[in-house]
Amino acid sequence: MDQMIGNSKKSVRTKKVKDTLIIKLDREKPDLEKLGICAEVIRKGGLVCFPTETVYGLGASAFDPLAVKKIFEAKGRPADNPLIVHIDDGEKLNLVCSGGGEQRKRIKLLAEEFWPGPLTMIADRDPAVPDEVSCGLPTVGIRMPDNRIARELIRLSGVPIAAPSANLSGKPSPSAAEHVIADLFGRVDVIIDGGDCDVGVESTVLDITGKVPAILRPGAVTLEDVVRVLGKGELPDWKKAPAKGERPRSPGMKYTHYSPDAEVRLYDGEDVAAVRGRIAKDAEKLAESGKKVGILTTDEGIGSYDQERFTVISAGSRSDLLTVAHSLYGALRDFDRAGTDVVLAEAYPQNGVGNAVMNRLYRAAGGCVINAGAEKN
Ligand code: AMP
Ligand code: MG
Repeated sequence: MDQMIGNSKKSVRTKKVKDTLIIKLDREKPDLEKLGICAEVIRKGGLVCFPTETVYGLGASAFDPLAVKKIFEAKGRPADNPLIVHIDDGEKLNLVCSGGGEQRKRIKLLAEEFWPGPLTMIADRDPAVPDEVSCGLPTVGIRMPDNRIARELIRLSGVPIAAPSANLSGKPSPSAAEHVIADLFGRVDVIIDGGDCDVGVESTVLDITGKVPAILRPGAVTLEDVVRVLGKGELPDWKKAPAKGERPRSPGMKYTHYSPDAEVRLYDGEDVAAVRGRIAKDAEKLAESGKKVGILTTDEGIGSYDQERFTVISAGSRSDLLTVAHSLYGALRDFDRAGTDVVLAEAYPQNGVGNAVMNRLYRAAGGCVINAGAEKN
């Protein structure tokens, strides 16, 4: 049977190939018998979508190359975009990571502070981890998620679980089970519904193999956090494309990402009031030309826009950007559901978690940034 995935112009027609089982679990006290069924699916080489505190993951046994290949097929993921390996304890860490010395020291310090939690460490890969997981790189991304369902699933499976985000490639990551169902129903064996994800954006990816630990993808664990624990760290400019011939350090970041069907334009500027004024003006113009306009703002800005004329969504509060991270992807998907053609989004200061939010918005906008008002950001 054919299945339409997505609901508007960029939807893709795909074959429904699997009967997907949806299992609802309490994330504080998951039913271990039901989780045992999911673990059995993992052990037998199947695909299970599961909640983590960042976003939902699309998991398979990290030691089963054929199962890992199925992840790439189910998502339509480019073959050179490596997966993160999820673990639940130190024993599994030793199975996947061969790094010693300074690397071990860094892992220990960071794990003590941030695991379980939204930090992925790029470390030397043990040969036990198949090429398919790391796309042939000598390194592997490792993370211990802070979600009971995820950790129990890994424990009961008895193997580390390789998992990217559980969305169709290019779409916003899923921060709720309904997003996973919309993208992957019929393409995976099981979807565990464990409620909304706390953080809402993907983990910080930190390469610990170099002289200075480098953040390849910003997330809820910030550069300041890393420097506090390791005494050093850097956040290379993620807006800069790699030079010709240079291999990107985080292969996944070169692809269009996180985009809803609607076109996204990002409005930046030091003076937030000026930014809002410009968005309101452009929204009018676009509406006059027949476009259905969406505006992504915060609680502080929602009163600045005509909510009758436009689809105006608040992603949270400027005073706590974790709230914006939490709601960002859900908001982008809501614009698609409302049939929006263009989303005009306010930018955020690029510090702390603001880096994670801006990184995702920048990519959702395909780099389309409009400078509204005084130079900055
Ligand atoms: P996703 O799981 O979809 O959020 O994507 C995982 C991210 O981690 C991608 O951006 C990858 O490029 C990055 N990643 C995973 N493994 C590695 C690795 N060994 N080296 C560099 N980046 C990695
Ligand atoms: Mg992803």
